[in-house]
Amino acid sequence: MVKNVIVVGGGIGGTMTANSLVAKLYPEVSRDKVRITLISNSPWHYYKPAFMYVAFGAFYKNELRRPQASLLRPEINFVLDEVEGFEFSASRLRMSSGKTYDYDYLVVSTGCIPSPERIAGLQEAGDHFYQHDPAMQLYRKLATIEKGRIFIGVTFPKTPNVPHQCGIAPMETTLMLDEFLRQRGVRNQIEIVYTYPTVSQLLRNCLFLQKDTSEVLPAIFESKDIKYQRGFTLARVDPEKQVAISEEGQEEPFDILMQTPPIRAVDAVLNSGVSQASNNEGWLPTNRQSLQLEGFDNVFVMGDTVDLPISKAGGSCHSQSPVICNNMAGLMRIGKTVAEYDGKVQAVAQMGMEAGMPLWYDYDVDVKPTPPTKIGGLMRKGFNRGVYWSVARGLV
Ligand SMILES: Cc1cc2nc3c(=O)[nH]c(=O)nc-3n(C[C@H](O)[C@H](O)[C@H](O)COP(=O)(O)OP(=O)(O)OC[C@H]3O[C@@H](n4cnc5c(N)ncnc54)[C@H](O)[C@@H]3O)c2cc1C
Repeated sequence: MVKNVIVVGGGIGGTMTANSLVAKLYPEVSRDKVRITLISNSPWHYYKPAFMYVAFGAFYKNELRRPQASLLRPEINFVLDEVEGFEFSASRLRMSSGKTYDYDYLVVSTGCIPSPERIAGLQEAGDHFYQHDPAMQLYRKLATIEKGRIFIGVTFPKTPNVPHQCGIAPMETTLMLDEFLRQRGVRNQIEIVYTYPTVSQLLRNCLFLQKDTSEVLPAIFESKDIKYQRGFTLARVDPEKQVAISEEGQEEPFDILMQTPPIRAVDAVLNSGVSQASNNEGWLPTNRQSLQLEGFDNVFVMGDTVDLPISKAGGSCHSQSPVICNNMAGLMRIGKTVAEYDGKVQAVAQMGMEAGMPLWYDYDVDVKPTPPTKIGGLMRKGFNRGVYWSVARGLV
């Protein structure tokens, strides 16, 4: 009997996993015992981290995307369609085209969606860099502002212990902003205020979601005359007065409000009825070791869709993908899972426009911050401009 494996999502998680599954299961794939299909609702694959460079005029749309089909091994059947319904109990997908697909094994890597509309006034008056068009809008403002106040904030999901997308991005972009405005020669006339909410994952009153990094930030910010403030949880925004109002009762004026917005799972995941996440956020209940969907042994979840306490980052997908490939092969070949995810995430943080800081952490050990270096910056540049596409192809 042929086994049908379907991967949903043509982002970094889905693309690298589909490619790696072909390599892992090559004996079965080459004898047509296993067929691998990748379904995505976009003909393009976006290198999402580059959206933050878009906000500073350093990347343009055609540099940060590739046709999805060009990244897939020839053994993979690519279907351009949208999953409308995940029927996990029937092992079936309902598509917006009206088709249905049955699967023996499924990988869900459908990402998450920035949802500024979940905070009153934020959509109208705020800016963010988590998608291409909002990042371009932010760029137009940052490229022309001459004086005033840029107020930076971070919104966490309401689901306990689930982080926002790419934990380090608000700090990275604050440092990039400082340097960008210095290069424009307007930094002296612009106040930058970095804020963090009262509750960030398991911490309270910090400046970052992990303690060690939180503790080094004040010195870095002070050296660059960046103001910082703990305990600012955005409750609503008054677009007319240009004021951000916090749950803690503060009112802060801004000329630009650069806010990490609320996020949620995509509609099809949200409506699957399986999520137990708070606030209708839709994260799928994921076994923290095997990465199987709780209650459905033939379904794996990865990337931004999981309800795990680790960064919603490509650097998480990179460590999750081999676990999923090994476990699926284990189930097919010996009837059991064989690998465990330890929560590992690795990345190179962009510290200003040129420097970088390699970082890694897992379920048990936090990031140990090190001084940013130009070598780190070069590593990040190499990843942005080339290595990423090899990762997506499952080669690195
Ligand atoms: C500004 C920014 C900076 C970042 N910086 C970093 C960084 O420095 N390092 C790092 O590791 N990570 C970073 N990240 C995070 C990283 O980009 C994401 O964590 C990663 O893309 C998640 O991968 P994914 O496969 O889960 O989802 P995505 O990459 O979002 O892919 C989801 C895919 O699913 C498809 N899809 C969605 N719904 C459906 C459906 N119903 N049917 C079919 N297809 C569907 C989409 O079209 C898309 O192709 C950053 C993200 C942003 C936005």
